[in-house]
Amino acid sequence: MKEWDVIVVGGGNAAFCAALAAREAGASVLMLEAAPEEESGGNSRFTAGAMRVVYNGLDDIKALVPDLSQAEIDTTDFGTYTQDQFFDDMARVTQFRTDPNLCELLVTQSFDALNWMRQKGIRFVPIYGRQAFKIEGRFKFWGGLTVETVGGGEGLVAMMKDSGKKHGIEIRYNTRATDLVFDGARVSGVCFRSGTETGVISGRAVVLACGGFEANTEWRTRYLGPGWDLAKVRGSRFNTGEGLRMALDIGASPYGNWSGCHAVQWEMNAPEFGDLAVGDQFQKHSYPFAILVNALGKRFVDEGADFRNYTYAKYGRVILMQPGQFCWQVFDKKVLHLLRDEYRIKRITKVSANTLPELCEKLDGVNATQALETINAFNAAVKREVPFNPNIKDGRCTVGLPVPKSNWAITIEEPPFEAYAVTCGLTFTFGGVKIDTGARVIDTDGLAIPGLYAAGEMVGGIFYFNYPGASGLTSGAVFGRLAGNSAASFAKQQAVGRSTNRKIA
Ligand SMILES: Cc1cc2nc3c(=O)[nH]c(=O)nc-3n(C[C@H](O)[C@H](O)[C@H](O)COP(=O)(O)OP(=O)(O)OC[C@H]3O[C@@H](n4cnc5c(N)ncnc54)[C@H](O)[C@@H]3O)c2cc1C
Repeated sequence: MKEWDVIVVGGGNAAFCAALAAREAGASVLMLEAAPEEESGGNSRFTAGAMRVVYNGLDDIKALVPDLSQAEIDTTDFGTYTQDQFFDDMARVTQFRTDPNLCELLVTQSFDALNWMRQKGIRFVPIYGRQAFKIEGRFKFWGGLTVETVGGGEGLVAMMKDSGKKHGIEIRYNTRATDLVFDGARVSGVCFRSGTETGVISGRAVVLACGGFEANTEWRTRYLGPGWDLAKVRGSRFNTGEGLRMALDIGASPYGNWSGCHAVQWEMNAPEFGDLAVGDQFQKHSYPFAILVNALGKRFVDEGADFRNYTYAKYGRVILMQPGQFCWQVFDKKVLHLLRDEYRIKRITKVSANTLPELCEKLDGVNATQALETINAFNAAVKREVPFNPNIKDGRCTVGLPVPKSNWAITIEEPPFEAYAVTCGLTFTFGGVKIDTGARVIDTDGLAIPGLYAAGEMVGGIFYFNYPGASGLTSGAVFGRLAGNSAASFAKQQAVGRSTNRKIA
């Protein structure tokens, strides 16, 4: 039976980064992907391909996007996103719980990781439209989020597959890892199931990059809590927590925010799992310019508390807690031109009206009388003298409401009005296994499990409660690359017969 140097479990961004790094280090690499090829690529394929990255100005953006045109340069203020800003964002949104060692790697390696991806054939473009609005002829980027992969998540996975093929990485689709081969001293392979076939594949090192437990209804209810069985899953149906279970079974330490997850506002009538034909377009992320009204006809959250990038990942949970697990996003004509492209898809629950009473009657499942009162009270509370500016936190707020709106408070009074129904869409879970700064999986005694590495959503301790938008792919790239490198050098040591004494992590 062939013994691979490195077996990578998973077929998303983290797995490909691990596989490409291990291959670069000279290892033979086999990837196991549970999904059939047409559904492969995990959550990574459903993304917009947006990646949070540290950059110190135009030169860094040009390094990532070498074909930036002069016209783009002339009309764009890219600003900067420094290491300090990324650290601050991580600390603030995780309420200072992010693991400092892992966070440091994420932040300080982010630019190198994207540059390395570029060398592996992944191309990036600036995120015009979603992350920069054109004001007086000029785009200004905001919220630390500036580049995305060409073709979004589809493009990312396609480019990764091409790169994997070019570098001689074998991928077995429809092949689910079911257990780790572990003799108490080291991991030496995986058990798998492919259709009705089962078997064992030997490997000197194993990288687990097979996602969280977002697609497992029972685990969601068990760990995230009551009600999470009712959430829609935004992405892959294959991330059922099996990698986590396999690692925990051999003593890996659970780590991080097991009751936490990334969840957003998502089309109310979206299917149970993501649909690759729609991708991330069921999300509805222009809510900072709306008011949100629940079944009682009331507002319940500060829609403009911060830039979308810093609130969207925690507001899904807030929607799930509303009666009936839904709300309506209500917009006035003045901001309709700012709505993101995802508001123009066909599969959408939308109503429009020319008067407020008519609109409120059309909000299915909502107390219309109360909704009208809520809108009128909101309009009366808006600080109209403050100018509206979507590119900055403009301080155009409400005064005196029990639930304030802190920025971008636009009155709902100019028809036509539009409203969109949303529920909670779960993106991925935050709980994972503990790793050290070499991506080695740590057991409950604090020791590295020889031969076992983890990356991507499987890594615990990075995100708690919330998440700075587009850090997931960056995390997968940084820790995937690290895991691939570490696994390749461990495999090399095994190959030359060096002993693998367990060391205190
Ligand atoms: C709709 C949507 C939009 C998003 N947009 C963005 C964005 O723009 N930017 C961003 O940074 N993040 C975004 N995210 C989050 C991002 O998708 C994740 O953080 C990231 O893709 C995780 O990468 P991963 O490789 O760890 O997991 P995945 O990409 O989910 O890969 C896991 C892989 O493991 C496979 N697998 C599972 N179990 C097994 C098993 N037992 N054996 C073999 N294979 C298995 C799965 O089939 C899958 O291929 C988005 C997520 C969704 C759902």
